[in-house]
Amino acid sequence: MSRGRHEQRVLETVGTPREVLERHGIPVRGKKARCPFHDDRHPSLNLYTNSRGCFRWCCYAGCGRGDALTLEARLSSRPIRDVLAAGPVEKVKP
Ligand SMILES: [Zn+2]
Repeated sequence: MSRGRHEQRVLETVGTPREVLERHGIPVRGKKARCPFHDDRHPSLNLYTNSRGCFRWCCYAGCGRGDALTLEARLSSRPIRDVLAAGPVEKVKP
């Protein structure tokens, strides 16, 4: 299965969930991070790739799951359509 057009647009607009987290100053270790949506003492937020090769995040504590777009929207308190309308974000500088 290849990635769909929506997934491609998400990648081009906000990048991967890992890039979104790092841009918001949330460190990712391996495939885990401390969830920014609840008081997380142990990393509950998991990054994974689904069966279609799409990048996803999931909080084991129940904050939700989704793609990089939903993550960016929640972290920046913007509607998804605003994130898409804003266009490609600057990539994290190495
Ligand atoms: Zn959470």
